[in-house]
Amino acid sequence: MPGLGEFQRIDRYFKPLAAGFPGALGLGDDAGLLSPGPGEDLVATTDSMVEGVHYLPGEKPSRLARKLLRVNLSDLAAKGARPLAYMLTTALPRSAEEGWIAAFADGLRQDQERFGIHLLGGDSVSVEGPAVLGITAFGTAPKGRALLRSGARPGDIIHVSGALGDGALGLESLRGRLPDLDPAHRRHLADRYTLPEPRMELGRRLIGVATASMDISDGLPGDLPHICHASGVAARVETARIPLSPAGRAALAADPGLERLALSGGDDYELLFTAPPEAAETLAALALELSLPLTAIGEISAGEGAAFIGPDGAPVGDLKGWTHFQP
Ligand SMILES: [Mg+2]
Repeated sequence: MPGLGEFQRIDRYFKPLAAGFPGALGLGDDAGLLSPGPGEDLVATTDSMVEGVHYLPGEKPSRLARKLLRVNLSDLAAKGARPLAYMLTTALPRSAEEGWIAAFADGLRQDQERFGIHLLGGDSVSVEGPAVLGITAFGTAPKGRALLRSGARPGDIIHVSGALGDGALGLESLRGRLPDLDPAHRRHLADRYTLPEPRMELGRRLIGVATASMDISDGLPGDLPHICHASGVAARVETARIPLSPAGRAALAADPGLERLALSGGDDYELLFTAPPEAAETLAALALELSLPLTAIGEISAGEGAAFIGPDGAPVGDLKGWTHFQP
């Protein structure tokens, strides 16, 4: 890092992110310490972002930091876990400037405060190629009760939180498609792509209600089969029931060719979960309390694989999970 040694960088920008978490040992030891409380499981997850693959080059470093933290938090949410601490690994080009690091650390600070998580430790290296940013996040869940992908049973209803498609439409809009869309809708979609909202409270409250849960990062058609596979069941979704936001609906009205993308696109970070039909009332009350729509989109049956049924009653054949944008 030009002008700033690794230790100075840690002292100036990263130590403050570890303050207030005794197990981080002020980032001054070989490792950090984590102690989940009695009766709790430690829940761990990791996610990386590569410049040019998972984010647009030139993305603001503070937003990037927040998204990196949030995609990890979303995995904790999907397990019903409370955030505890995280490890950060950065591989940055030698040309990365101090201002970039400062803004990146500030983004982490903002979301640490918002979500109640602390930096526990990490590593940084310099690379010639594109930047690679990685976080390993730890959370806690009541022992033996974390939400898994494997609990869906025939007869369960499939639900999603919020609205789907915004992330993929937001990326399209950032790339210059949808030029005539109302600016407020465009901003909404772009924000959903660059700054997803991990459903922390929903995840925690689904413990004991949902039978299986995961977050939607690769798109519904890519992610739902994971629940089917892990649970040994089949899923049937009616595409007309997939919830869209007002901005998403406006985008599809402006450019109907984006419909497939909206139904299958990734980067929404909503929760996809199954629950028995008797949970309907509990879920309706929870949706009201959290001001977060929870929408039933289909059901689980015996068998295998996920089927997507269009409004005409015929299977929609070519909905595919969509992982990363192609530059
Ligand atoms: Mg996930």
